[in-house]
Amino acid sequence: MNNIYLALGSNIEPRDDYLSKALESLNTHRQITVLRKSSIYKTAPVGYTDQDDFLNMVIELDTSLLPLELLDVCQSIEKQLGRRRGVRFGPRTVDLDILIYNQENRETEQLTIPHPRMLERAFVLIPLSELASELTVATAHKMVSDYIEELPESDIKDVTLWTEKGSAEE
Ligand code: AMP
Repeated sequence: MNNIYLALGSNIEPRDDYLSKALESLNTHRQITVLRKSSIYKTAPVGYTDQDDFLNMVIELDTSLLPLELLDVCQSIEKQLGRRRGVRFGPRTVDLDILIYNQENRETEQLTIPHPRMLERAFVLIPLSELASELTVATAHKMVSDYIEELPESDIKDVTLWTEKGSAEE
C-alpha cells in the first residue's frame, strides 16, 4: 500500500470548481485512486501577498505511477485547468504539489520529496494533519502534529475551515 499525499490549492474563481475538477481528473486517471480528502481551508497568501486568498486541501492517494510520472500528471492537470506560469508563488487556477511519496527522499531540480516547503506551511500541515497527524516527515521522530506546534500563531490564524470534510458541497 502506498503512502502518497498531494496538496491542492487555487486562488482564482471559481476556486471550488478548480479543486473539484483537479480531483476528478486525478480520480479518472486509470493508475490513480484518491483514497481520502481533507477539509478545504481558506488561507491568506504566503510569500507574494498581493493576491486573493487561496482554498487549500490535501489528499491521500494510491498510484502505480512513479514519482516523476505522477508529477507529469499533476502538471498536465494544472495546464488543462488553465494555469499560466507567471509570478512565482503568484495567482493560480490550480496548483498540485507532491508532498510525500512513501519513504522517497530525493532532491533534484525537477522534483524534491518531501516537498521542500511543506514543513513551514500551515496551509499544508493543517489539512495534512486531518489525514495523517502522526506521520513522521523528514526525520524519524517528528510528526506532522509536532511541526504544527512549531508554527507561529499568526500563520495558524491565517488558515480557516472553508468546507468541512464530509459536507454536502464535496
Ligand atoms: P509551483 O510553481 O509551486 O507549482 O512549482 C512547480 C515547480 O516545482 C515545477 O517545476 C516542479 O518540477 C517543481 N517541483 C519540485 N518539487 C516538487 C514537488 N514535490 N511537487 C510539485 N512540484 C515540484
